[in-house]
Formats: sequence, C-alpha cells, structure tokens
Amino acid sequence: MTRIANDNADATAAKTPDDDIIQPFQLEASGLRGRVVRIGATLNDILSSHDYPLPVAHLLAETVATSLLLSSMLKYEGIFTLQTSSEGPVRTIVADVTTAGAIRAYAGYAQDLIKAMEAAEKRPTDGPYEGFDLRQMTGKGYLAFTVDQGANTDRYQGIVALTGDTLTGSVSHYFDQSEQISTTLKVNASYDANSGWRAGAIMLQRMPDASIGTDETAKDAIPFRPEQAAEKEDEWNRSSILLQSVTGDELVSPTLHSHELLMRLFHEEGVRIFTPQSVIKKCRCSPDRVRDVLGTLTPDDREHASVNGVIEMTCEFCSQTYRFNSDTMETVVVDETAKTH
Ligand SMILES: [Zn+2]
Repeated sequence: MTRIANDNADATAAKTPDDDIIQPFQLEASGLRGRVVRIGATLNDILSSHDYPLPVAHLLAETVATSLLLSSMLKYEGIFTLQTSSEGPVRTIVADVTTAGAIRAYAGYAQDLIKAMEAAEKRPTDGPYEGFDLRQMTGKGYLAFTVDQGANTDRYQGIVALTGDTLTGSVSHYFDQSEQISTTLKVNASYDANSGWRAGAIMLQRMPDASIGTDETAKDAIPFRPEQAAEKEDEWNRSSILLQSVTGDELVSPTLHSHELLMRLFHEEGVRIFTPQSVIKKCRCSPDRVRDVLGTLTPDDREHASVNGVIEMTCEFCSQTYRFNSDTMETVVVDETAKTH
C-alpha cells in the first residue's frame, strides 16, 4: 500500500506510464473507494482477434474498460460478465473477466446497419476516433451483470435497460436503483492509426454506511446525527464533481500515469493507492469445451452442420477455429493459421 501524501506527490508518484492495470484507490478525507483502469496493449490484442468496424470496436473497447472497473469492485471468485443485448445495429457485446484479471470480449452486429450508420454520419479520420452514441449503436435493449462463482454457488444476475448516450449512464442507473450504491464513473476509448486502441476508466462508489442510521442492534452503533449524514453527502458530491472533471484525453493518455491522474483529480482529498491488478487477454475455450457444446446437438443437427464429415466451430471470443470429425467427434485439425490466444 502506498500513500501519496499531498506535499510530496512529485517524489512518490511513478513517472512511467502504467498500462493494462486496475488501480484501486481510496480518498483519505472521505474513505470513498474507487478504481482506475488503463488498458492499451491488451485491448489491441483483444481487438486484433476480430475485424470489427471502428464504431463496433469503439463500443467494445468501452465495454472492456467498464467490465474491468465493475469486476474489481465486486467481491467474488469466478467470472464476471457484462453483456448488452439490443435491437439496433449492435445486437450484443460481451466482456468477461476472471478474478485473476483474464479478460476476453466479442461483439455481434449487423454489418449493413453499421455501414449505413457510418455513411449517414461521417467521422473524421484525422486525430483520435470518436465513437457513436450508445443510443445509435444499440437502440432499445438491456445491460446484464452476471457473477458466476462455479457450479456450487448461486449465479447472480442484475439487469438494467440501456438508457442515454453512454454505457456509463446505464451502469450508474443500475447501481443507484438496484444496489443502492451511489456510483459515479467515466469511461473513454480512443483509436489512433499510429498508436492503436487505448481505453481508460475511473469510478468512485459509496456503499450504504452502516455507521450512519438508526440500527440500534449494531454493537458499535453510533448515535444518528443528521449533520453527519449531511457531511457525508457533501463529501460524496464534492468527490463526484472532481471525478467528473476528468477529461477523455486524461483517461487514455499514454504518458499520464494513473497515480498522477489521481493526484490531479483528488489532491485536496488525499489519495491512498493500493496494489494494482494486472490485466491479460485470455480465452477459456478449448477442444473439450467446444466438443461439449457440439455434444448438445442432435445427430441430425450435427449432420447439417458438417461439411464432408467435418464440423468446424470458431470461438467468437478469440477467433480460434476447431474442427471435429462429425461421427467420432475427434479433433481433426487445429487451425494453425488462427490467431493464438
Ligand atoms: Zn476462444
């Protein structure tokens, strides 16, 4: 744990850019907790497994950064999935993250609708690429949060309608409504023909405070003081405004270290930095898993899916192609030309 004191921040803040990390932090004055996500090389690696049009890649990049933020705020052992499902040009976007920080993602979309959208509203090609509004990309739909902790535990799922122009709006709405956890976040993804994709995100959350209230059964209950609740509210409002003052450029800048970013935003609050978690691109597909999926098909369906006795399946997440003998289900060839994980 590192404390960046306000008076010697320049001496302690690391100067080199950090990347592919989730950086947890806490504001000293209020105890509010948050995360910064920076993702560059890993994001490029994820997107290079696909050949998505820029608007789709942009939304996927934002979803990846958002899923990393959210997964790291939850206490779980397993897989966290953020998934959209919608009627518009983009049908679905899926990003899932394991507790160890292995992430993978894909998008399902209608090529012709995306092309029509791009033709109708040109985006400048010089300078960083700006995506389209969420509303244009997805139309009506919903956003699902799933935590899967394995076979023996309950699967948790939360769902919220996609609302507004950005994914972050729907995420805030979800936490405010469903979890009663005040949440403020900002996410940005950027593409530059020279440096490729980068995404950055920052979030602060306020958990319901057990020490403020009238729960007299709590052992260490502190008598309720209305002015204390007002102070907490002020702290939250002040910190939210500071967070929202971050610019899109600051979030994705390859030369601005996350520690420096936090000091810029919250130097008056004091920032405590915890050990960052690194993020890697890793798919969980394997010949056995694909075979299990094919095993759920009827012999007739398998026959339909096969060409010259071979069934071919490509993982949507990583584009790895698997081939099986449709009778024996033995692996025929593993595609050597497919992109590696
Ligand atoms: Zn895969």
